[in-house]
Amino acid sequence: MKFVDAHIHLSDPEYSSILDKIIGDAKKSNVVALVSNSMDLETSKRSIQLAKKNPGLVFAAIGIHPWNAQRLTEDELETTLEFIRNLNEESKRHVVAIGEIGLDSMYAMKEEQQKFQRRIFNEMLHLAEELSLPAIIHSRGAASEIAEILTSYNLRKVLFHWFSTPRELIPELIGRGYYISEGPPVLYSKRIRENIKAIPIENLLTETDGPVRFWGPFKGKITTPAFIPLVVDEIAKLKGMKLEEAAAQIYENFINFFGVKSI
Ligand SMILES: [Zn+2]
Repeated sequence: MKFVDAHIHLSDPEYSSILDKIIGDAKKSNVVALVSNSMDLETSKRSIQLAKKNPGLVFAAIGIHPWNAQRLTEDELETTLEFIRNLNEESKRHVVAIGEIGLDSMYAMKEEQQKFQRRIFNEMLHLAEELSLPAIIHSRGAASEIAEILTSYNLRKVLFHWFSTPRELIPELIGRGYYISEGPPVLYSKRIRENIKAIPIENLLTETDGPVRFWGPFKGKITTPAFIPLVVDEIAKLKGMKLEEAAAQIYENFINFFGVKSI
C-alpha cells in the first residue's frame, strides 16, 4: 500500500534537527510522497533543496503564506516573485505547486494588513496561472471569499488544505474540480469527519501539516508522516471502503493532482 502526505512543512525550523527521522518515518510507513510547503522566500528555497536531496519522495510547493504577509516588505515581495518566476530548469523539475498561499483574517486585523494579504494572495495566484502550477490554499475563516477570488483566475488545479468551514461550500469546490486535503483531525474532529463524508473520495488527499501539533490520539506527539496510514484508515471507515481501496484512490488522486509520474 502507498500513502501520500500532500501538505507538510519539511522546511520548518522545528523539523531541521529531526529531518532524517521524519523522512525515515515516511519511508517506514509507506508514505511515498511528501509535498514540502513553504512560508516565504527562505523556506521556498529550503523546500526546493529538500526535494533535490530526496528526488521522487519530496516535492516542493513554494510561495508566501498569509501569516507572513504582515511582516513582508515591498522589496521582499518583489524578490520572492522574481525568485519564483526565474527558477532554473533543475529547480523547476522539483516544484509541483504554489503553496502555501491564501487568506487568514486572524493574521490581518487592520484593514491595511488585509489589503496587503489579499494583494500577496493575488500575486501568488497570478504566478500559479502563469507557471501552470496547482495552488495549495490556506482558507481559515476565508473559504467563501477565496472561492470568489478564484473565479477571476484560470486555475484548474486547486487544493484546499485542512478545509474546515463552511461545509455548504464543498459541493461548489468539488463542482469546479478542486481537491480537498484532510489530516489527523479526521480521527477526532466531528466537523472534519462530517466534511470527509461530503467530499467524494476522488477529490480527497491526505496531509499532516506537520510540524503543527494535534489533539485526540496525537496529543503531545511530534507530527510525523507516520500518522498518514491512521488517517487513511479512518477515511476508509467513514467512506465504508476497504483501507487498500481508499489508499489506492488517494494515491491516484495525488498523481493526478500534482501531475507527477508514478512514484
Ligand atoms: Zn500548512
